[in-house]
Amino acid sequence: MGYSKMKIPKVCEICGTPFLAKTIITRYCSHKCGNAAARKLAKEREAEVIRQKFISSIPRDRLYISVREACVLFNLSKDTIHRLIRSGRISAINMGVRLTRINRDHLESMFPKMETVNLKPVTTKLNYDKEECYTIGEISKKFEVSDSTVNKTIRKYSIPKKQIGRFVYVPKVEIDRIFSRK
Ligand SMILES: [Zn+2]
Repeated sequence: MGYSKMKIPKVCEICGTPFLAKTIITRYCSHKCGNAAARKLAKEREAEVIRQKFISSIPRDRLYISVREACVLFNLSKDTIHRLIRSGRISAINMGVRLTRINRDHLESMFPKMETVNLKPVTTKLNYDKEECYTIGEISKKFEVSDSTVNKTIRKYSIPKKQIGRFVYVPKVEIDRIFSRK
């Protein structure tokens, strides 16, 4: 109580519409935008899985990498890479059209390694105390998404959950990490 009376002016992160939020962590104006945000997150996660697969396919001990490999490994655009080559800041060998090979060590010394987005459960020992968990209903209310989106997200990220009596309990720490992620 009192909780539902709160009105915090916010701007929806999906559609940009100003709205009055019921909680300080609300980020979207409507269920529709909340669902769109969840879909966007799922897409990002998929792209990250593909990126990781691609990265693991590049042998660590290969010194010269392709432009595409460099883009993915260091999160740079093709233009940036070509600019670095032209200015002589990284060395590259031109082995023919579209066959530029770049010195990986040069890139590594210039750019920090791309952080991997780790969305696997953080906690090993899970706490299913009621204060440490949300129910599905609480999650959909808090993050303004539908119950089915919540359930889909839980499945998608393999978030651990536990049925206790009539309710399914999900550790807050996992949910906050996924749903509050920018
Ligand atoms: Zn919106």
